[in-house]
Amino acid sequence: MTSPTLEYPGDLLGFADDLAPAERAKLARLRAYLDENVRPVLVERWERGESLADFRRPLADLHLLDDPELLDDPAVQGGVRRLRPLYRGFVTLELCRLDLAMSITYGGQVGMFRTLIHAGGSPEQIAAWDPGILDFSFTGCFALSEPDHGSDVAGGMSTTARRTEDGWVIDGAKRWIGNATISDNIVVVAREEGGERVLAFVVPAETPGVERSVIPHKGATRMVHNADIRLDGVVVPEERRLPRIESFRDINRAFRSLRADIAWSAAGMQLGAYAAAVEYAQRREQFGRPIAGFQLIQDKLVRIVANIAQTLALAVRTTTHPIGDDVSPSLIKLVAADRLRESVALAREIVGGNGVLLEHDVMRYFADAEAMYTFEGTREVNTLIVGRALTGHSAFTR
Ligand SMILES: Cc1cc2nc3c(=O)[nH]c(=O)nc-3n(C[C@H](O)[C@H](O)[C@H](O)COP(=O)(O)OP(=O)(O)OC[C@H]3O[C@@H](n4cnc5c(N)ncnc54)[C@H](O)[C@@H]3O)c2cc1C
Repeated sequence: MTSPTLEYPGDLLGFADDLAPAERAKLARLRAYLDENVRPVLVERWERGESLADFRRPLADLHLLDDPELLDDPAVQGGVRRLRPLYRGFVTLELCRLDLAMSITYGGQVGMFRTLIHAGGSPEQIAAWDPGILDFSFTGCFALSEPDHGSDVAGGMSTTARRTEDGWVIDGAKRWIGNATISDNIVVVAREEGGERVLAFVVPAETPGVERSVIPHKGATRMVHNADIRLDGVVVPEERRLPRIESFRDINRAFRSLRADIAWSAAGMQLGAYAAAVEYAQRREQFGRPIAGFQLIQDKLVRIVANIAQTLALAVRTTTHPIGDDVSPSLIKLVAADRLRESVALAREIVGGNGVLLEHDVMRYFADAEAMYTFEGTREVNTLIVGRALTGHSAFTR
């Protein structure tokens, strides 16, 4: 492995300067691992739509989230030793700086799945499953969206859970479920039959009645396999239900931090796209000089860096003022996705015709930004959430 260094060209306001030396060293090791092992295979795997699942264990072995050296001073965190939120954010940023699919393949487990278990599980479930979640021996994904219900899934969910003497029977269908075919467990959200509750079950993926099929021909996050899932008479014991999830309000509570974390992902992708674009601009010559010397190219580079500063400012704000409501994550998500979409398009422009070739990197970010624009709530849905909070009027339906 090369000697670890950690620079963030494009972070002009120096948000990364607040990382502690041990945190920087860990992130530098992560970058060195990614550059040496994952970066060289990205183009081929992206083209073939091949999963990056084989990198999960090596990433777990880096102990990014469970290294005692990285735990903060207990005085700072109210007597508890924790990872600093800034560092956790930079882990996501660093993965996305390489590739969004790498981040989802790793973070879908230690971020999304783990967050759900911690937010919804009993103390016994958390104690039993958490070590396996961190070392990837107990893997999982999150199944909420349905073929006929995306934005309106809260009101229209058709997957049901029926109570029986043996536990629960789940029937329905889910769509778009990331990491479903590389996970041992699927957290299935279902409406309680004959009741008001919305429940979540940690369903072993091999349970009879569960059928997973990868959605083919995807043009974004190609190295993440998203699946259609059918659930026909799937029997799940009560011990596999997450007892602290009983409504959409509970799911939103669990998802607040995840939605706001999009700012870290979007910042990482913009930093990656910027690095590729500025490097290309320095070496590509037209009209007898590097295109980096043209004002119109510099304008694009500056706009990307300004977008990065705005996105990082949002991300860092979440570390100093933890999210305690359902509205601010929507504002953060929609602004971050907007800034990302503009930046990756500018980066793609700078690289000209070569910009559509995968080997110049910017095209991956460009395509993957479209996925980020849609998941964790589309721009419209997040706008409606903020708009309702501002005005007191819901504009979701006529
Ligand atoms: C790459 C990818 C990964 C994903 N991963 C997961 C996952 O792991 N788990 C999971 O559960 N889901 C996942 N999803 C699903 C994602 O959450 C949904 O795609 C998203 O909620 C939007 O739903 P939809 O695609 O059905 O679009 P629709 O809800 O059909 O929306 C279509 C369009 O209509 C707009 N629209 C809808 N309602 C309104 C309204 N009231 N007013 C104005 N405009 C409106 C939307 O904003 C959108 O532009 C993933 C999706 C993608 C693309």
